[in-house]
Amino acid sequence: MLKVTFLGTGGSLPTTNRNPSAIMLNREGELIMFDCGEGAQQQMMRAKTGMMNLSSIFITHFHADHILGIPGLVQTMSFQGRTEPLTIYGPEWVEEFVKILSAIGYYKLKFEIKAVKLKSGTSVKRDGYSVIALKTDHNIPSIGFALVEDERPGRFDRDKAIALGVPVGPLFSKLHHGGSVEVDGNIISAEDVVGEPRPGRTVVYSGDTRPCLDVLEASVGADLLIHDSTLADDMLDWAKEAMHSTAGEAAALAKKAGVKKLVLTHISSRYSDDATLLLNDAKAIFEDVVIAEDLLVIEVPFCDV
Ligand SMILES: [Zn+2]
Ligand SMILES: [Zn+2]
Repeated sequence: MLKVTFLGTGGSLPTTNRNPSAIMLNREGELIMFDCGEGAQQQMMRAKTGMMNLSSIFITHFHADHILGIPGLVQTMSFQGRTEPLTIYGPEWVEEFVKILSAIGYYKLKFEIKAVKLKSGTSVKRDGYSVIALKTDHNIPSIGFALVEDERPGRFDRDKAIALGVPVGPLFSKLHHGGSVEVDGNIISAEDVVGEPRPGRTVVYSGDTRPCLDVLEASVGADLLIHDSTLADDMLDWAKEAMHSTAGEAAALAKKAGVKKLVLTHISSRYSDDATLLLNDAKAIFEDVVIAEDLLVIEVPFCDV
């Protein structure tokens, strides 16, 4: 399972129907967050994502609309008895942020918060996937993220295995995971019955940025690209000045990279009620695009099923 829940989709300011940036990913039961804007924990409750399995928060940059959800969230998790450590990854300032966070108010957390500073190009290796920090182009130190799953074993040809005399049972699993087995004096190896390795899934999140090379390269063939789309194309000058992207620019990058699906987020409060203009700008360039709404859920399937 790889499920993406948009907890906050507004740009810079909360509105009545959009919280600031926060995205929850549920990968095989492990929860990780990309940014954690104000109100994220209540959005988790509304979306029923759970929070105790949250292993890490990846922060794109330390503008307030991407981090103010963290203090409340960690207090709630502590109150609920969490003892597992939580890791907060981010660019420059993550260590200072965690130090300040740990010193707010007269309370003591029951769990440890670790700060890990990431430079662009750094890869955080996890069980079954990696999160790679991408160089982005905003007006303070910033990074984006690509979650890239490991390759999976190829398809197991059950009929062929049976035809070769392999008895149905544990030897199937051994072969599927690359082992060899001996049946009636014959050695049967994985290559005989297992196809080419299959790619895992890739989800890219730009954070706040102008369109940039690292996000483009990480997005080539990606299953899902979540991109800054603060403004409509008629406000390109402003987007350039504020170091954000327009809907059309995000769509052009998605098209160039050949992503399977594009989600536009960080929507300026001026379009909070009606983002049709952004959608039209993007659709003119790239068809498979949606505007993120708070509590939108997207399941990312494997491309070969
Ligand atoms: Zn922002
Ligand atoms: Zn920002």
